[in-house]
Amino acid sequence: MSFSKAFSNIMDSNSYRPGAADGAEPLIAARQRLLGPANRLFYQRPVHIVRGLGAHLYDADGLEYLDGYNNVASVGHCEPRVTEAVTRQMATLNTHTRYLHGGIVDYSERLLATMPGALDQVMYACTGSEANDLALRVAETFTGARGVVITADAYHGNTAAVTAISPSLGGATTIGDHVRTVAPPDSYRVPAGELAERFAADVARAADELKAAGHGVSALVLDTIFSSDGVYATPDVLGPAVDVVRGHGGVFLADEVQPGFARTGDTTWGFQRHHVTPDLVTMGKPMGNGLPVAAMVGRSEVIAPFATGVPYFNTFAGNPVSMAAAWAVLDVIADDGLLGNARDVGAALREGVSAIGDPRIGDVRGSGLYIGVEISDPETGTPDRTTARRLVNELRERRVLISVCGSEGQVLKIRPPLVFSPSDVDWFCSALTDVLALLA
Ligand code: PMP
Repeated sequence: MSFSKAFSNIMDSNSYRPGAADGAEPLIAARQRLLGPANRLFYQRPVHIVRGLGAHLYDADGLEYLDGYNNVASVGHCEPRVTEAVTRQMATLNTHTRYLHGGIVDYSERLLATMPGALDQVMYACTGSEANDLALRVAETFTGARGVVITADAYHGNTAAVTAISPSLGGATTIGDHVRTVAPPDSYRVPAGELAERFAADVARAADELKAAGHGVSALVLDTIFSSDGVYATPDVLGPAVDVVRGHGGVFLADEVQPGFARTGDTTWGFQRHHVTPDLVTMGKPMGNGLPVAAMVGRSEVIAPFATGVPYFNTFAGNPVSMAAAWAVLDVIADDGLLGNARDVGAALREGVSAIGDPRIGDVRGSGLYIGVEISDPETGTPDRTTARRLVNELRERRVLISVCGSEGQVLKIRPPLVFSPSDVDWFCSALTDVLALLA
């Protein structure tokens, strides 16, 4: 593939379209000079955000934006209980995990209690990439194999090992020799009754290939909401594929960086929607509501061969401030009923977008506040990347922020903070109605 689907598809950093005196030009020029070309910006006219509150953002001119994109500040931008917990801990102690501290033990107990009992140990990292990198090493040591099965447009991070399992990066990156891809369980193009069986058959074919090539089968690695693939949320699809991989001696690694922490509105974790228990689970992004906190959870017998053979130390991971943030996030999700909010407001948002009834909207799907809107040619049904990209940029002009995903970058990716409200749904739907009319 020739373009970076995940990162540069809604703005090519050289295509800045100057707007009113928004003060962006000097900042863009300074970024390009100081950070170089790898650091891409979003939108043809980048946003300069200086403040956030709940599901809203404010730019340098004080204008309010609707945040339909940021799943990191998942319990709301600048959530006061998280801010207070972090501030208090920062003023008390912040050091590494080689001293005893109650914070990491208390949090681990609470985190593991959200999962099936078989998942009984946790190791900490700072980013989702690191957690996945660690999980690949753990899987490799446990299975004695190296082969990995992923979906065709997966993204799992930015270290060397996880870039090799992240085809959605596109551009000059290549997936590894030890990696095979399968189509995601595409609920738009495959009948619901066939999804699980087809997916398992594809995984079986990939596993056979890995064995034939001498790599063996180490892991099936799946983002359980298939976010970069285009958001596929049909439940109870993954079980047979997981059985196939285990039958080949491999493990199932559920990458919960996107769906985890209540986003899908029905269960805390995406894998629970499929009624499977993974061998390894990774998480990050929303875990600390903006602080870099990530983790790998697993069955202790899967972790043991690695953990007993290779010392693991991560300077910043699991420190008292990170743990205070992560603890406060779980408090806010529970106290404010954010799982239910994701379910109800997510359903209202999907209904609102469907009700617009525009023929270019081929499909509205997702679960909770992880929503994909397929933009396709009304006559032929072919993915329409150009219109998707224009919609995103025109929404930005109306101060509504989203992005795209999917194999062609044809799916509007909507995943706001979990505090999104019914009035935010109205704002979003009226802006989308306007931009669809504008591009008619
Ligand atoms: N896994 C998935 C599914 C992701 O979406 C991401 C980030 N977009 C990562 C892993 C990597 O996380 P991080 O950027 O924190 O390294």
